[in-house]
Amino acid sequence: MPTRATKRGDERTSLAGAYDVLICGASFAGLAVARELAGSSADVLIVDRYEIGERQTSACGIPTRWLEEMGLMEAERQRFDSLVIHTPHGDSRYRLPWTFSTFDYRTICTLLWADCDARFETAKVEGLISGAVNGSDAVAVETDRGVVSAPLVVDALGWRRVLAGPAGYQPPDAPLSRGLEVHPGGGAEDLEIWIDRRYVPAGYGWSFPAGKETRIGVGSFDPKFHVRETTELLAADLERDNVRYQGNWIPHKLRKGTGRDVFFAGDSAGHCLPLTAEGIRTALYFGMALGRELRCVVEGRQSREAAAAHYAEFNDSHERKFEWMLRVQKLVPRVPPRLLGPLIRVFGVKRFVDWSFRHYLAIAPPEFVREGRYLAFSQSVPTPASTSSGGSSS
Ligand SMILES: Cc1cc2nc3c(=O)[nH]c(=O)nc-3n(C[C@H](O)[C@H](O)[C@H](O)COP(=O)(O)OP(=O)(O)OC[C@H]3O[C@@H](n4cnc5c(N)ncnc54)[C@H](O)[C@@H]3O)c2cc1C
Repeated sequence: MPTRATKRGDERTSLAGAYDVLICGASFAGLAVARELAGSSADVLIVDRYEIGERQTSACGIPTRWLEEMGLMEAERQRFDSLVIHTPHGDSRYRLPWTFSTFDYRTICTLLWADCDARFETAKVEGLISGAVNGSDAVAVETDRGVVSAPLVVDALGWRRVLAGPAGYQPPDAPLSRGLEVHPGGGAEDLEIWIDRRYVPAGYGWSFPAGKETRIGVGSFDPKFHVRETTELLAADLERDNVRYQGNWIPHKLRKGTGRDVFFAGDSAGHCLPLTAEGIRTALYFGMALGRELRCVVEGRQSREAAAAHYAEFNDSHERKFEWMLRVQKLVPRVPPRLLGPLIRVFGVKRFVDWSFRHYLAIAPPEFVREGRYLAFSQSVPTPASTSSGGSSS
């Protein structure tokens, strides 16, 4: 595990001060927000306990088109046009209607950061300080390097939702999945998943090749099921070494996008998709939507309250899709194992695969990147948020 980069000794100068925007968390969601604010001339501070790109948080798989649309192809490591699904009673290869890529975490973060003009500091965020700051509308956040305040504060800190205070999650009694993977050297050809109770009663195992290494892991929808032993079992079955572990809790329930005068994006808002645990694309997507709203505030085109209302509406407009995915997540473990193989083959019919994967991609479509990059969501994309909410920017 990398050591935390929070400044020590003489380097640990105070950060105390006031900014226009404070973004807590410099991974996918936080960097996506900051990128949308570039060129707005707002004074933006982004903080993370690690240096940017220092600590990989996932297997780093994403639909290729998202990398293309965001100009991040340099980070791509491998591309796949099919998915191999293994069950104890048979395997299937699904030809995908769009390709999926694995990428390098450090490179993608470096590329995202290169598009930002914010200031970055390493600091551990401890929580929100309640009450107004000197009678202003600023929100104060406690860090291990002092109190930082801004009228616009973003929590992109991951599943802990640190700035939500007592409303944060406590595993294992929370809607969280558990994921762990190892990163042995050596490549492979296929993107593969295992739906097999030998590895996990509710969830799946995966092998995501990424050029010179393969990311092999197990995710359990049941937070009480420990995945270390079976991650090692899957790696052993694939004759790979158990090296370079990385794991985390993965939220599988959409949460509110705003609260306590704070904006939440990515895992902190439960933006990771249930069933597939795909959370990078959605962290970028919701991060961009939020960044566009905040940009309108710093440019004086809408109030913080209007931005909060638009973003909350945008967030909630995805509730039905997230709930539907969660329903399937709960259903899959109930299917008797002997039916899984035949069912996987039936669902492998090309027309069904094309239909379901296209709908799945449309939950956070790649075109969103192009649509009004510097305009508020409510102005640029025809969705319920744009038709029902008034009082947006003029
Ligand atoms: C094993 C595993 C494999 C996965 N594989 C995939 C995959 O292939 N594809 C996919 O789409 N999704 C995958 N996911 C899910 C994906 O990792 C998350 O949904 C995604 O990282 C969410 O992005 P985020 O920016 O919201 O949060 P994170 O990426 O978790 O970033 C949070 C940031 O906040 C910082 N931070 C946290 N607490 C503090 C604090 N108190 N003070 C300061 N900084 C703090 C962290 O250092 C980090 O930089 C996987 C998850 C796991 C666990």
